[in-house]
Parts: sequence; structure tokens; C-alpha cells
Amino acid sequence: MIQAPRGTFDVLPEDHARRAVIEAHTSRILGAAGYRRIETPAFEATELFARGVGEATDIVQKEMYTFDDGGGRSLTLRPEGTAPVCRAYVEHGMHKLPQPVRLWYLSSFFRSEAPQKGRYRQFWQVGAEAIGAEGPDTDAELIVLLAELLEALAVRDVTLKISSLGNPETRAQYRAELARYLHQHEDALAPEVRARIDLNPLRAFDSTDATTRATMEDAPKLLDRLSAEDAEHFEAVKALLDDAGIAYQLDPALVRGLDYYTRTVFEFSSTALGAQSGVGGGGRYDRLIEQLDGPPTAGCGWAAGIERMLLAATDLPTAAHTVDLFVARVPTASSDRAFAISTQARRAGLSAQLELAGRSLKGQLKHADRIGARYVAIVQDAGIALKNMESGDQQELDTAAVIPTILRGSRLA
Ligand code: AMP
Repeated sequence: MIQAPRGTFDVLPEDHARRAVIEAHTSRILGAAGYRRIETPAFEATELFARGVGEATDIVQKEMYTFDDGGGRSLTLRPEGTAPVCRAYVEHGMHKLPQPVRLWYLSSFFRSEAPQKGRYRQFWQVGAEAIGAEGPDTDAELIVLLAELLEALAVRDVTLKISSLGNPETRAQYRAELARYLHQHEDALAPEVRARIDLNPLRAFDSTDATTRATMEDAPKLLDRLSAEDAEHFEAVKALLDDAGIAYQLDPALVRGLDYYTRTVFEFSSTALGAQSGVGGGGRYDRLIEQLDGPPTAGCGWAAGIERMLLAATDLPTAAHTVDLFVARVPTASSDRAFAISTQARRAGLSAQLELAGRSLKGQLKHADRIGARYVAIVQDAGIALKNMESGDQQELDTAAVIPTILRGSRLA
């Protein structure tokens, strides 16, 4: 039997209602703030992610689904949304539009990670990007919007961590300082941390190894090395969050798995989730557009995992699915008349389902009850019996009277 590939899943019809609620809240909350939806291709030139996300990141080194397109070009299934959105911004000359350009997406992404609860190889993210504005109010706006989305979805036990990565120059100096510190303490570091000191020393803060963690407590912190402008920007972001009543924790070791971040970084997590506790996160990426050959353009954004939000929001309301009319028929009656009634009912704005399975009349009524139909029209050899499923009342009608009767919602005798 052929099964869905490891780490993937089917979104079945019964799963869709809760996802639709997330989509509706996202569209409402982001739409009200001027964000407009964008969809980029599911695959891109591999170079986009190598350059955008960063050669040294886990994503680029280990997790990309990369393939040759048959003509010698290397393509990659998108592992994240920011680099593609920035590629689209440059490609369509969006720097000529009034800035910032506010965009959101809801798409699926692909990473070859070890599957576990809340971690998949194809997963969905909703994301927001504000491109072309560098002020701290942009960062705060985005954080507030994600907080509002998580609140609207009643995602449980959420905490927000924020930090600042400063600019690439002070970060490079800091990296060198941190690498020196790590080399001095090599004996107290886990082998995989030691192996990456020069490639990506910041990742040492991610380690789960106890002695590594203890060593990292005394390590120099980037937050203490920010330039005056970056420190001021970060203070302003925090003040805006304070004013907005958004609680946060400062996490000087907050490291995100993508290289393009500058200044503000943030992450929402939920203790309701277990090991994969990250619900959504993001930050500022003021150099990314330039790296993609666009004009120097500031940007900021976030992405939140749909599956993680679904897991952490257990009482997400499901959209009620109503069936106004089920069209049944006695075996000897014309199926064309039944077909016509269901079509006309839908054209009149009702939801109407037609019996297609050849059930007995008793079976059809049982099925209508099971799907919660408000009315059943039983097509007879002549005329229609319209049954109100709530009251149980039934009346004989001309075919032409069926739909008006339902629309009036009139009490049946
Ligand atoms: P990232 O793009 O790595 O910053 O991830 C943003 C959010 O996407 C995370 O907080 C998760 O909610 C979600 N996410 C990332 N990777 C996965 C994955 N492999 N499976 C499911 N959700 C994921």
C-alpha cells in the first residue's frame, strides 16, 4: 500500500474547519492593518535560500529538498517564506510602491527534519512581512499582530521572548569574541558545539548539553555589545510593546535558525506543546533585500506554524456546516427532477445535497439526519413531500413551491 511520505500528512475534510478558522482570523487581523496576501512558487532557485537564509544554517546545510530541474538548474522546495517574498519584492519593483509594503502569506513549506509531534517535513505557516520601513514601530506592530492572532485563536500558555542581534558588523566582532571564549572553554563543550565554533558560534546557545549550557551562562552576550543606534532601536521596540500591554522576556541568547536577521528577533512559544514549543517567530532583516540584489531596503516579519497553533489551541471553534436541503427520491421517481431541485436550490443560495448512492428511502432519510439537513425533499412520482427535520412535519407540495417554502422558513402544517 502506498502511504503519504514520512513526515507528511493529509489535511482531511474534518481537519479543514479548524484550519479555515486560522485563515479567517489571519486575514481579518492582518488585513485590518493593511497587509495584503501574497503567494510565491512552491520551489525557487536554490541560490535564493543559500544566499538569503545563509550557507551555515541547518536549513541550508541539512534540511532542503533540492533537485535538478533536468536542465542543469538547481531548484529547492521552499523551506521558509521570507526569502521568496523578498525575491518577489525585488522582482516586481515593489520598492516603487508606497512603503512599507505589507504582505502576508499562508503556504506550505518543506524541511527534511526528523519528524516528531509538531515537526513535519511539509508544514504550513502563516507569515507577515513589512518591507521598506526601519522604525521600531514596524517591529512592534508585527509583534502585536502575532500576539493578537494567537490570542484570537486562544493558543494556550504563550510566552514571548525578544532580543536584538544588532547589525552585521558589531555581530561579526561579537562572533569573533564569542568564538575566542568558546575556544578557551572547548573542554566544557559538547562535541557538536565544538565542531561548529568557527562556522556558527551563536548556535552554542542552542545546545541542550548541561555543561555546555553552564559554560554559556558566563559567555559574552550580544545584547551587551550592540551599537548605540541598535540599542536605541531595541529600547524603542520594548517601550512600544510595554505601551501595548504585551508581556515579554528578554532572552539575550535568542538565536533563530536563519542568518538574515538584524536588530530585533522574537519568538512566541507555548508550554502546551512539549519539545517543539515554538509557535511563531521572526525579526528584522535589514540587509536581506540587498543580498538578493535589490536596493538597500529594511524589512521585518514573522512566521507562525499552523500545526503548532492547532496543537496549542485545543478548543478552537469549528465552523458549523449547515445543510439546508437533502434531496431524496422514491426509487420510481425521475432522477432528473431530483437533480433539478438540488441545482435550483443552490442557485437560490441554499446548501443542498443530492442523493447519489442509490439508498432505500429509509436509508436516505437516515443519511439526511446524519448530515444534519434542515429539510428533506422527497421526490415522488408526482409532486414532492417536504419534510422539516427539526419538527418532523411533512407536507405535499408542487415542485415549484419547494424552494420558496424553505426560503420562507415557513412553519409546515
Ligand atoms: P522558522 O521559520 O524556523 O522561524 O519557524 C517558524 C514557525 O514555523 C515555528 O515557530 C513553528 O511553529 C513552525 N515550524 C518550523 N518548522 C516546522 C516543522 N518542521 N514542522 C512544523 N512546524 C514548523
